[in-house]
Amino acid sequence: MLQVEALCRSFADTPAVHDVSFSVPKGAVTCLLGPSGCGKSTTLRMIAGIEQPDSGSVRIDGKIMSDATTFLPPERRCIGLVFQDFALFPHLDVAANIGFGLRGKIAPRRIDELLERVGLSGYGAKFPHELSGGEQQRIALIRALAPRPCLMLMDEPFSSLDHRLRDGVRDATLDLLRDSGTTVLMVTHDPEEAMLMGDRIAVMRRGRLIQEGRPHELYDRPVDRGVAAFFSDLN
Ligand code: ATP
Ligand code: MG
Repeated sequence: MLQVEALCRSFADTPAVHDVSFSVPKGAVTCLLGPSGCGKSTTLRMIAGIEQPDSGSVRIDGKIMSDATTFLPPERRCIGLVFQDFALFPHLDVAANIGFGLRGKIAPRRIDELLERVGLSGYGAKFPHELSGGEQQRIALIRALAPRPCLMLMDEPFSSLDHRLRDGVRDATLDLLRDSGTTVLMVTHDPEEAMLMGDRIAVMRRGRLIQEGRPHELYDRPVDRGVAAFFSDLN
């Protein structure tokens, strides 16, 4: 579904992402896991088309999004984006936030359905500042899902929620993503979250991809002590 090959990106001669290759199968949730500064967000941003790679290629559904001669902008990549800070438009109400960029192509009924799906029926006329963090996160999620993206890219979507809220929002998100059959790549630095949410996990360290596989494969057969240490505190 998503194929990333030999992606590289340096900032001021310091490599942030080096020779990263992996793929994300259709309909599955893949977590990109690694410590702070290892290059997760830079990788996600290159897949989204927000950051230009120095070299390497990105394909979605077999189509080249980015290589030595091509660089499609984010709006031509059939992706949905959710970031840590939600980034709702403060001057627009919830319904307008969800419909933003769809130029009237979204029926009010579909907005109502999406709101109902995340337990926020009747929230369409509220403004972002009237919502809790968890509510804003759910709105950001359905806003990204509204255009039915081929691929959903999420960067630490739960990390700014306090832990009491986090489990509920995580479950609601996972249900919605699974029901809609959306293919997902989600960045996290939290091994427990990756084990909970990922059908597959790709582990990065210092700009490189170290290991990729199903959660139990990484847990049972880590390629090195670094990967083993990541999962050692989990049970
Ligand atoms: P975190 O978990 O803290 O979000 P990350 O794995 O997402 O970390 P990146 O944001 O991809 O890490 O950053 C990887 C490296 O590239 C870091 O050393 C960072 O300082 C550097 N970097 C990222 N973006 C830029 C930029 N625009 N200019 C300069 N350096 C950058
Ligand atoms: Mg990051």
